Amino acid sequence: MRQLHGPGYASVPVLHSHPDHTGWSDSSARAVLQLMVEAVAEMIGFEVAALSVVLDGHLITMGYTGPEEFRAHLYENADPVSALDSVLHRAEPWGRLHFLAAENYEPEDLDGHWVVVADHQTDEPDAWHPHDVLVGLLTDDDGGLIGVLSVDRPVSGRRPDARQRRLLERYAAQTERAVLTAFEREELVQQVAHAETARRLIRAASMPAHASLEAVLQSTHRPLVEGFSAAGSWIQVLDHGVGRGYARARDGDPVTLSDRMAELAQALAPRLWRDQRVLVIADGVDPELPGPGVEPLLEAARQQLAELDLASALAVALGTGTECLGFLVLTREKDGPPWSSIEAASALQIGHDLGAALMTARALERERNLVSELQQLDDYRSQLIATLSHELRTPLTVISGNLELLGDLELEELADRYHQAMKRGTTRMQKVVDDLLLLARVSDPRHPLVRVPVDLRDTVREVTGLIDSAAQTRGVELHLLLEPGPLEVAGDPTELDRMLGNLVSNAVKYTPDGGRVTVSARHDEGRVVLTVSDDGLGISEEDQLGLFRAFFRTTNPDALVQPGTGLGLTIVATIAERHGGTVEVRSRLGEGSTFTVTLPPLS
Ligand code: ADP
Repeated sequence: MRQLHGPGYASVPVLHSHPDHTGWSDSSARAVLQLMVEAVAEMIGFEVAALSVVLDGHLITMGYTGPEEFRAHLYENADPVSALDSVLHRAEPWGRLHFLAAENYEPEDLDGHWVVVADHQTDEPDAWHPHDVLVGLLTDDDGGLIGVLSVDRPVSGRRPDARQRRLLERYAAQTERAVLTAFEREELVQQVAHAETARRLIRAASMPAHASLEAVLQSTHRPLVEGFSAAGSWIQVLDHGVGRGYARARDGDPVTLSDRMAELAQALAPRLWRDQRVLVIADGVDPELPGPGVEPLLEAARQQLAELDLASALAVALGTGTECLGFLVLTREKDGPPWSSIEAASALQIGHDLGAALMTARALERERNLVSELQQLDDYRSQLIATLSHELRTPLTVISGNLELLGDLELEELADRYHQAMKRGTTRMQKVVDDLLLLARVSDPRHPLVRVPVDLRDTVREVTGLIDSAAQTRGVELHLLLEPGPLEVAGDPTELDRMLGNLVSNAVKYTPDGGRVTVSARHDEGRVVLTVSDDGLGISEEDQLGLFRAFFRTTNPDALVQPGTGLGLTIVATIAERHGGTVEVRSRLGEGSTFTVTLPPLS
């Protein structure tokens, strides 16, 4: 009678899991192991044979031959390796094999799940008992358990004799080798997969074009330690003699390295990059040194590893093209596997990927530094202009006051001509100084905008009112198009006045006598829009590009005859911007121009 008992019964240990749950990627390895099991059963004369391998501390069935009804059970359950203990410490060792005779134990002595697959027993003295257990332990070179081969239901109905035991022993040895090979192959496949994953992750992590150096270093740590089953990672960035190190333990905690490690990186990285090779640092590994004078540094590295309780390190250079930019070291603990050639090849590739990322991040960092330097320079320039204009204003006021007084005197014709020239010059100088002062004030971040509600219709009326007489003397018609309701924005009324004033006076200035200037103010798509159009000289496309730059003046001789500072439109753009708005120009040479300022409405 064939029986399946619950826990507490013995014969074939249930060493298993569903084939798809082993995590093994290589199905050919599984097929080989299945063949081994079938050969054992057939050649030695057992109806039942099973092979389990140790994965993650569990016995996972990799091959089985015997009655079908047990198959699913064997494959679908995974017992911890410790389930063997109760059998092994009672069993009689036969070399690699262990035999536990039914008469030497009580079924309840055994823990774990055991299946009784034998169904009968003869009366012979050496008859096989349904509760007999015969297992072969498969081990690696260090004696660690890697698998279990078990057999049951001898065809002869007897316990194995000496010849059968020898044969079984031999088959167990062969199976052991097959399992070892499968493990190695599997390990290799896993390593390739892991290293590939690490590469993909590192590429993804370091790709964003805005990533700072710090961000690249931070985001690559995890994929590196996970992909390479490393105990930690260390990246030393080499930047013209100034190094920056980023060393982390597996969990991300910072690791402090001795100063000599930075020296090691400086010395080794360029040589490794030149030779495109990796270096394994470990006790007992004598690497081919990448150049003279490296040995003492390597000794320091070995010491550093020992201090951190680590066993080995894989070092590779980071770079792009001929430029070496850094040094990457991955470490492993004492029980970790040695670094394989596949891992070394992957690390070399990562050296290129990470090198490219470092290059981008470094360029970006330099650019940021440059921007901040330029910003400082710009601040300094604004400061200088503001100070100078202030200093010039007082003597200018004195000069123009005295010129006024001089005007009251009866001057000879020649003296009067000199006097008029001085007055014109002083007026222009005053305009430059006023514009410079205004520009410095509206560009100074330390003078924030004080906002009040401003109805732009009032601004338009005031500005056009002031300019109207000048327009009329030139025969230029000034038109207003104002929306009926209020056109409110939040802003500084004086600044808004100067902004519109510059645009309208430009329009009048650059429009020949008899022309037409239109100023309009309205709402458009929720924004407040001011436009100043003229049918004057117009602006060439080339000039439109530089129009809002400080001190820009056109090359158009017709426009150049008009006096100007080249600061008006810069002031317009700065004021519009600090009010959260924009300014645009549409113009055609010889046909006229339209300047449009768009501002956010009062909320
Ligand atoms: P400027 O003091 O020279 O007028 P702006 O910054 O106000 O300085 O203007 C820069 C240049 O843009 C002017 O020199 C002129 O050539 C051109 N410009 C500005 N507004 C107009 C306009 N409405 N029509 C034609 N050209 C204009």
